[in-house]
Amino acid sequence: MSSDFNSVRIGTDGNQFDNIKNRILVLSGKGGVGKSTFAANLAIALALKGKNVGLMDIDMHGPSIPRILGLQGEKVYGSEGSIIPTKYRKNLKVMSVGFFTEADDAVIWRGPMKHNVIKQFLNDVVWEELDYMVIDSPPGTGDEPLSIAQILGAGTKAIVVTTPQDISVSDVRKSVSFCKQVSLDILGVVENMSGFVCPHCGKRTDIFKSGGGEKMATDMGIPFLGRIPIDPKVVEYSDAGTPYIEEVRDSETAKAFDEIIAKIV
Ligand code: ADP
Repeated sequence: MSSDFNSVRIGTDGNQFDNIKNRILVLSGKGGVGKSTFAANLAIALALKGKNVGLMDIDMHGPSIPRILGLQGEKVYGSEGSIIPTKYRKNLKVMSVGFFTEADDAVIWRGPMKHNVIKQFLNDVVWEELDYMVIDSPPGTGDEPLSIAQILGAGTKAIVVTTPQDISVSDVRKSVSFCKQVSLDILGVVENMSGFVCPHCGKRTDIFKSGGGEKMATDMGIPFLGRIPIDPKVVEYSDAGTPYIEEVRDSETAKAFDEIIAKIV
């Protein structure tokens, strides 16, 4: 890695975020592995525990958080230097590029523009005092995760979401290397879509295999946070804009979410 890269290590923007106690960046190597679903449900679970939470969606090209939380069409208000975020509930504030664009708009921005938007999201949005900020990053190791790592600085934690099959795990290894290179502390790896238990016969089928995320975590010397099974209700509730974890309490998938979130807290 070139010394140029190392010269943009995190924390170089000189920002202070003393009002945000814990900053958690959710990353993945590929799209479609359930990263936004995990980030949204993590934020809700923390808010349900009474914490003050901010959920920041920095996926500029495919912001999913407004849809998952049923906040499509919401707009944010404020003047320059002071943007009021949308609230999902009293103690869960949400910010997404999706609040500034129409549903079918394509955002065509280069890296510096994205960097400025992320900076504004952090500096100008009135987050007030937060116990946790959860950040949903786009897949891969591009401009957005690099910008957020630079701006937020040391102490920011990362969670890497993968599915179990090799094609996903091999990409998520790059996300782990990215975290190490920009000195983000890795809280651990979550293996999502890990097996499916048939609600009719109770038989388990490993649709995308199982265990790949855990093996990768062991190989790379980072913690493994757990496996979340497939539940078609996750899709149903996400599409309807009612987060799964608020609606379903007794499924294997809900229990897996709970166990992982307990480890994070
Ligand atoms: P990403 O942010 O990684 O692109 P999403 O969170 O948008 O992925 O999830 C992709 C799709 O997979 C969505 O339709 C979501 O509802 C679904 N999904 C995520 N996790 C699960 C799960 N454990 N079981 C069933 N469907 C899931």
